[in-house]
Amino acid sequence: MRITVLGKSPAWQDAGGACSGYLVQDGDTCVLVDCGSGVFAQLRRVVDYLDVDAVVVSHMHGDHFLDLVPYACALSFAPRQQPAAVAGWPGTDEPARPQLLVPPGAIDVLATIGRAGGQPRLFERAFAMREYDVAETAEVGTLRARFQPVPHYVPTNAIELTSRDGGGRYTFGADHRPTDALVEFAAGTDLLMLEATLPRPERRGPRGHMTPAEAGEHAAACGARRLVLTHISDELDEDWALAEAARSYAGPLEIAKAGAVYTV
Ligand SMILES: [Zn+2]
Repeated sequence: MRITVLGKSPAWQDAGGACSGYLVQDGDTCVLVDCGSGVFAQLRRVVDYLDVDAVVVSHMHGDHFLDLVPYACALSFAPRQQPAAVAGWPGTDEPARPQLLVPPGAIDVLATIGRAGGQPRLFERAFAMREYDVAETAEVGTLRARFQPVPHYVPTNAIELTSRDGGGRYTFGADHRPTDALVEFAAGTDLLMLEATLPRPERRGPRGHMTPAEAGEHAAACGARRLVLTHISDELDEDWALAEAARSYAGPLEIAKAGAVYTV
């Protein structure tokens, strides 16, 4: 299983970067985990967007789903998706329609966005869309996805991907405040990607994110074999963030970089 970081920015993009997006490939199976702002352009640098089997979304914050808008437009309006020959493209009776697995309640959110843009059925026409059940194991090609609700500002799910053909476990924590739910879900995982959004805990209101130190504590508690800090701004000093996480976590540790590839 190959995991390519397409974007690792938090809710505001790094200079030249993209928000949350991770491409997972296993043989011929291709799954995009999250499709935040800026991810579609990065996806196009790595694979043909028609070859993605499924997009799986952790939660409905813009930095995790907003590039479903250009993705749906590409699937709807790209010349090679049209039924008649046009501009050198032969035409097709079977336009690509990737699966779109979204969290419970997300179809209403997408319908609202579609209506606001005058295209109420944009997403349901472009994708084979459904809301996943957080208790299910979803199968896409050779990949299996499991979900774990984690505490954030809106319903949010950590996502685990494994291959039916063997190999390791990839666990993406999505966005969350410190939580034992993630520690149990990710126990013993091979590759753990955890958000490290904040330089210090929120000063007021409910918590929704973690610091690099807290990400390190979670990785140590669940015995992850490798930790990658993500959802972290290029405005936060990398050496400082790594040192904070390393106070608790002694295993291999790095900060996600756009274009980085991990194999498990
Ligand atoms: Zn979020």
